[in-house]
Amino acid sequence: MLELNNVTKKYQVIPAVNRVSFTIKPSEIVGYLGPNGAGKSTTIKMLAGLLEPTEGKILFDGKNIRKDLYAYKKRIGYVPENAEIYPHLSGYDYLLMVGRLRQIPEKILKNRIKQLLEFFKLSVEMDLAISSYSKGMIQKVLIASALLHDPEVLLLDEPLSGLDVTTSLVIKDLLKMLAEDGKIIMYSSHILEVVEKICSRAIIIHNGRIVADDSVENLRNLMKLPSLEEIFNQLVVQEDTTAQARGIIAAIRS
Ligand code: ADP
Ligand code: MG
Repeated sequence: MLELNNVTKKYQVIPAVNRVSFTIKPSEIVGYLGPNGAGKSTTIKMLAGLLEPTEGKILFDGKNIRKDLYAYKKRIGYVPENAEIYPHLSGYDYLLMVGRLRQIPEKILKNRIKQLLEFFKLSVEMDLAISSYSKGMIQKVLIASALLHDPEVLLLDEPLSGLDVTTSLVIKDLLKMLAEDGKIIMYSSHILEVVEKICSRAIIIHNGRIVADDSVENLRNLMKLPSLEEIFNQLVVQEDTTAQARGIIAAIRS
């Protein structure tokens, strides 16, 4: 079980994440939704152990993750929103490096990487430098590297960005299967349609605070709205979007 207990993160004075609490159980895929700047990536970076909460605690199986960050990190896989990947390495070598850091035995690792690259349709390009890869290809390498050690917890920050339709479908099925296997999955996105399809639960964050946390089904019933998009609009979007679009057109013609 992964638990956030009253977690706050301040970069400067204003909290990017403000007293956030929730628990994710094994077999749950939780969709973490919110507009740009809501605090999604900050929360996920804290869950990945990359940022320390200013206040509050993150517990995994009842233990504060920061007590033994090394042991905790062995059990998680993280797909960051902005890739910090070594562009001079090939896709194969990058995965080899990650797998060695993960201490996967060499023979098993090489075999695993070859299979993953094949399933991700990267076999042809696997020895080319990542600097020559498209955004989607880099995303595939990042997803493969997060999965390489079959972690118990998957933290995915906008994981489908740049991916083609077929690969996105594969990833969606894959996540459902991993959840059935008992994994804990946190899926941050601003694309509501995907969350609606694969997540058992949706948490909506706005200005660093949780404004909803329930099953998609319950959220629909409670708010008497047919789709997550409409629920999201009701909870989060308090702006006149048509007026804004008009304003932009007026601005470029002024
Ligand atoms: P989201 O992923 O939901 O778009 P973020 O977690 O990236 O949101 O950002 C939440 C808020 O924190 C934003 O206002 C953003 O400008 C701010 N923020 C994020 N990272 C930093 C940083 N490294 N330094 C200062 N402010 C930051
Ligand atoms: Mg983000």
